[in-house]
Amino acid sequence: MHMLLHICCGPCAAFPLKHLRESGYDVVGYFYNPNIHPYKEFSRRLETAKEFASKMDLKMIVDSRYLLDEFLRSAFNASNGRCSVCYEMRLREVARFAKANQFDCFSTSLLVSPHQKHELIREIGEKVAEEEGIPFCYIDFRIGWTEGVAISKELELYRQPYCGCIFSEKDRYYKPPKEGL
Ligand code: SF4
Repeated sequence: MHMLLHICCGPCAAFPLKHLRESGYDVVGYFYNPNIHPYKEFSRRLETAKEFASKMDLKMIVDSRYLLDEFLRSAFNASNGRCSVCYEMRLREVARFAKANQFDCFSTSLLVSPHQKHELIREIGEKVAEEEGIPFCYIDFRIGWTEGVAISKELELYRQPYCGCIFSEKDRYYKPPKEGL
């Protein structure tokens, strides 16, 4: 089965790629993540994803458009929360490319992370699949989270400290002042 796998970053793709190859899938990667902030971090994650692809002999298509304004506008206006538009924006592009290029299905490395909104990713993947007319391959890659971390360390890949957007960067580092200050 010919699968287009959305790659959110190199480290997160480590276990899904291993698992999919062992299960007989013929995998091509697809990097599309305009949510990542700032641009230097985006570039670093893109370079890491390329490094991962090269070390794993993985063909990877790179969509390096950095649609920051579009992402921020959608995130601010999101009625279902910013992660919902963030997942949909990325998965829709992957589904469209997969459909246009005769892949059998698509999936995403986001499904490996216990820090992501797993059920929401599944729900959005299935909705996009129906709307774009190509199957979403749902697999709970979280079973291999620890193994994936170990592989990424073996490969000496850069591991990012926050999810990606400017809001997640704030959540990671900002400590509100104590009351009264
Ligand atoms: S927290 Fe992560 S998934 Fe949610 S909007 Fe930010 S980058 Fe996207």
